Amino acid sequence: MIVANYDMLGRIFTGPELQLLIEENSHDLFDWPLTCPICNRQLTYQSASLERPFTYFSHSDGSADCFETKSTSDEHRLAIEYTVKALYNRISEVTGEPVVIDVEKWIGTREKFVIADVRVTSPLNIAAEIFYKTERLALGRRLRTVFANDFKSYLVFHTNGKHNPNRIERYLQQVAPIRVGRFDANTREVTLGDLFSAEQVTLSRSDRDRLPNYIAR
Ligand SMILES: [Zn+2]
Repeated sequence: MIVANYDMLGRIFTGPELQLLIEENSHDLFDWPLTCPICNRQLTYQSASLERPFTYFSHSDGSADCFETKSTSDEHRLAIEYTVKALYNRISEVTGEPVVIDVEKWIGTREKFVIADVRVTSPLNIAAEIFYKTERLALGRRLRTVFANDFKSYLVFHTNGKHNPNRIERYLQQVAPIRVGRFDANTREVTLGDLFSAEQVTLSRSDRDRLPNYIAR
């Protein structure tokens, strides 16, 4: 993985950020443990490069990487890991509470569910979806299911993905005054955009009729 929780500071850092800290301080950074943002196991750091971004951190006990899935491309996974960092640090800063966060997890029932790229279940419920090559966004079904299970949602668009986030946002703003998030593929900065809630975005039938099918259905 490329993100790690630096417990002493209570926030998540990326490998390149930590590498910079080490170069600047050159000592005793690791008197405090680094832990996995997902499972809290201790992590081992190794100097790496952006050609092999997921090798910065690994579970010290050798167990499989919590971010590794067969269904996700490396580029999508990178955006997911950076979103985990942005979301975790934001919630931790605002609430001051421990954050329980996971990736690729179900929300809903077997009959009616979505799989959230990033799912926070404490101290509040948030599902973040990172759109990369997905053709159809299915926001009507996705948001209905998320809201019905007491979650709110961030929608983050990879800037080199299938859809131009500016265009998606212009469409959505015809039905709600809301901004989407972005993963900037060049700078690797994540902006989360607005938190979609049932109060803000209903995506009623008439709303869905005003949106292109690839967004709403
Ligand atoms: Zn882990």
